[in-house]
This record gives sequence, structure tokens and C-alpha cells, in this order.
Amino acid sequence: MSTQTTAITPLVASLTSGEIEIVDLTYPLGENTLSVELPEPFAQSPLLELHEISRYDARGPDWAWNWLVIGEHVGTHMDAPIHWITGRDGADLASIAPRRLVGPAVVLDRTAEVRENPSYLITMDDIRAFEAEHGSLPDGGWLLLRTGFDLSAPAARYNDTPRPGFAPDAARWLAQESGIVGLGVDTTSVDAAGAGTFEPPAPAHRAILGAGKHIVEQLAHVDRLPSTGALLVVAPMPLIGGTGSPARVIALTPRS
Ligand code: MN
Repeated sequence: MSTQTTAITPLVASLTSGEIEIVDLTYPLGENTLSVELPEPFAQSPLLELHEISRYDARGPDWAWNWLVIGEHVGTHMDAPIHWITGRDGADLASIAPRRLVGPAVVLDRTAEVRENPSYLITMDDIRAFEAEHGSLPDGGWLLLRTGFDLSAPAARYNDTPRPGFAPDAARWLAQESGIVGLGVDTTSVDAAGAGTFEPPAPAHRAILGAGKHIVEQLAHVDRLPSTGALLVVAPMPLIGGTGSPARVIALTPRS
């Protein structure tokens, strides 16, 4: 066994002792896992279909495997810049540097406001209030919005409409002025239901992806993260030409 001490050693020790916990922010992917629903006349995404190739049978006696039909934006997933027309000359999933997939995360909790008003829009007042209490948003990090939405309702084709989102001023500032590289949310979209009629439409997708930044949607268990102090790891498939991918999203958090 190696006794060499490196910069990783204290991290491993903290994971072993439980001082640092792993929180899985990912919903299990299955045939009832959601994707965002778009209004008519726009095309809808397939969800997930699992097709057997073999299952320890004549088709393959010692092994089981499947093939999949899945939309890129199903379940807990990441949006690449090319998902939006404003980012069309930006990165696909395969081109995103892994360094951008690991960084500090802070959590803006608007559970109470969203309970009162499910169409609540995050404005610059919310961002300024957060920074006044917790300090600047982290350079190279992620801002996660906690709304209290729970997308785990089984088989119910849960549709999160109405749904909160980001107002144009906050979306623009996060994209162009703040140091974050990504924006995450516990609903199906960083844009509110009905944001197609905002000026500009879908302001969060438009601004964040247009700035070459990233989005993660349908996060689970955001309530288990502290306001500041977590480290986020986002692991999408590096799909060539991919606009989005289901992702395993985990956070390392100090034990509370
Ligand atoms: Mn998406």
C-alpha cells in the first residue's frame, strides 16, 4: 500500500471519516423519467425506452445488455452551449473541458417564495440578497436554484407547470457579469413555464448558453446541500454533436 502523501490525501481521509459526504443530485433514469414538455406546435422528445439485446438466454447465455432510445434532455441532464441558437457556434458535449465540470456550488433557496407563487421569477434582487448574505458567486462555479419542486412522482408524468425560472435581468447578469460557469435547477428547466413569451424568450437558456456557459436541470436532493461550501461534479456523456446528455451529478459536502 502506498504511503505517499499528495494533495488528494486529506480529501480521501475526509471521505473515509465521513467529514465529507457525497450527495447524489441525480434522479434514477427509467421509463417514467421526465423531460420538459413544450407547447404546440413544437416537437416533443422521446423519454427513455430500454430494449433487451440478451438476458442470460439463447441470445447471449452469460450476459445481459440493452439498447436505449432516449432524448438528450431526459432526467437529470446537462445542456451544452449548442443547445441554444445563441450558442450555436459554441461547444458540443464532447468539446467541454473537464475542468468546467468540477467546481464550487452555491444554493439559492427560494422554496418559500415558490410555494406562494409557483411562477416566481428570480431577479437581480434575489442575487444581490444572496451575495449580501453569503459573498460573491463562485468564480468557475455553479449557482443552483432550489425551488422545492420534486420530480420523483412515479409514473405520474408529473408536469411542472406552472414553474419558476430566471427573469431576463438576472439571466443576463449571471451569463455576462458573474464568474459562474453553470446554472442548475431542481425543475425541468431554468426557464419558467411560459418563458417563450418573455422578452427575450427563454432568457436563461438564451443568455447562459450564448455565453458558452452550462445548465443542469432536473436536479434531485438540492435540499441536502449547504448554501455555500459544496463541490459539484457534473458527468454528462461526451456526445459528439450532443446538445445535452443525461448526467450523473454529485456533490461533495461538509457533513452538517
Ligand atoms: Mn435541457
